[in-house]
Amino acid sequence: MIDLSHLRGKTIAVLGLGKSGLASVKALINAGAIVWAWDDTAQGRDLIEPLGLAPINLAECDWTEPDMLVISPGIPSTFPTPHPAAEKARRAGKPIICDVELLCTSQADVPTLAITGTNGKSTTTALTAHIITQAGIKTQAGGNLGNAALGLEPSTADDCLVLELSSYQLDLLEHSEFDACALLNITPDHLDRHGGMDGYIGSKRQIFARNKGPKWAIISIDDEPCAKMAVELAREGGRHIIEISVKNPVDHGIYVDDNGWLIDDLSGAKTRILDLNTVAHMPGKHNWQNIAFAYGLCRARGVDATRIIDGVMSFPGLAHRQERLGSIDGVVFVNDSKATNAEASAKALSSYYNIYWIVGGKPKEGGIAGLEEFYPNVKKAYLIGAATNEFAEALGDDLPWAKCETLDVATKAAFEDAKASGDDAPVVMLTPACASFDQFKSFEARGDAFRDLYNALAKAGKVNA
Ligand code: ADP
Repeated sequence: MIDLSHLRGKTIAVLGLGKSGLASVKALINAGAIVWAWDDTAQGRDLIEPLGLAPINLAECDWTEPDMLVISPGIPSTFPTPHPAAEKARRAGKPIICDVELLCTSQADVPTLAITGTNGKSTTTALTAHIITQAGIKTQAGGNLGNAALGLEPSTADDCLVLELSSYQLDLLEHSEFDACALLNITPDHLDRHGGMDGYIGSKRQIFARNKGPKWAIISIDDEPCAKMAVELAREGGRHIIEISVKNPVDHGIYVDDNGWLIDDLSGAKTRILDLNTVAHMPGKHNWQNIAFAYGLCRARGVDATRIIDGVMSFPGLAHRQERLGSIDGVVFVNDSKATNAEASAKALSSYYNIYWIVGGKPKEGGIAGLEEFYPNVKKAYLIGAATNEFAEALGDDLPWAKCETLDVATKAAFEDAKASGDDAPVVMLTPACASFDQFKSFEARGDAFRDLYNALAKAGKVNA
């Protein structure tokens, strides 16, 4: 367990008892801290009883006692309205932090790479951790991905931590420092939680206030907010800045050329590293961006190009993000259940041809508007869930479609059509452009159900994994 013994005897308030909050409570109890814990749901509060704690309502308690508030990043501490406990902590002048701050300040000597951005954080974090592990360095990935920060194993100065950080988590850091910081991209997202676009950009900007040591700042110049920030960072000086582009050549940066080659120009040699067209398990320019960033982060950690290439090629990918399940009778199955909005589905639809598209669920505002330009890649749409009628109307005569209601009916119908089509490498793809909650507990449960359906069909068919 992560050692928080510097907090022995301190009173620490923990708000939110989900995965990260509970891991914090356990690590703090283990360290000998006095823990005041609360969750607004009875279900959450029940989880601390076996740990010998009685819940304390942090919105009503006396805030002179606690030394700090450790808040779950999902709970608003500022916009749109702060949780009453956060408001009280702030008025009492107590620091408000998240579990990542406890992790990083207790392991300040561990080389730590931090990754943020609107999209691609999990993929880049997992890929970077995979490459560094393959290079022989003991590496753990965490933060917003997988394990809770305080559920990780303790690390040493020879190891490496790769942290995915949401803008919420960045807002809740005080003294954490990172060896390399990466900002992948910025597009409007979660604006209500940041008081608008400027607030959101400001949150992301904070990652570069947390550089330590050689101060590697790795930043995209492909979108306007990031490009502007890169100019500001250069003006401020004092950092090794690596600019990244998948659109244009970048002097002394890392970029992808017109032919899809990843180019390393860090030393001005314009070295061709890898033909990204050959990385079949990470298709699409968005994935090229993730690979270019992983390359930059690994170079900052001292991993050489050959090992990075090996790591990219052996990366198994992340579940539910354009996850290639395998193929049956020549039909490829792709699970992109994580695509819960049209923007994310656009990436998947632009990355394949001959798609038999399973789409629907609980629709988001705007539905599938904006995806029309990818319809030439789609053979037919199979509609599921609450979005069915809305999406049928939106598709109109633009594409053939069928109302299937459920995922199992859609998957079987899409497979039969794809198999009979005679298309070159047809793809049955679940990229729903919708939340899952109308029929599933989570996007993970939806993706798992799709994988189960694939496995059942594979038993009967001819599998080419
Ligand atoms: P995050 O952790 O930031 O939510 P993920 O790596 O989980 O991102 O990817 C989620 C979805 O976002 C993917 O299925 C893909 O459709 C899209 N995506 C991935 N990487 C990028 C990127 N670099 N730029 C834009 N979209 C991306």
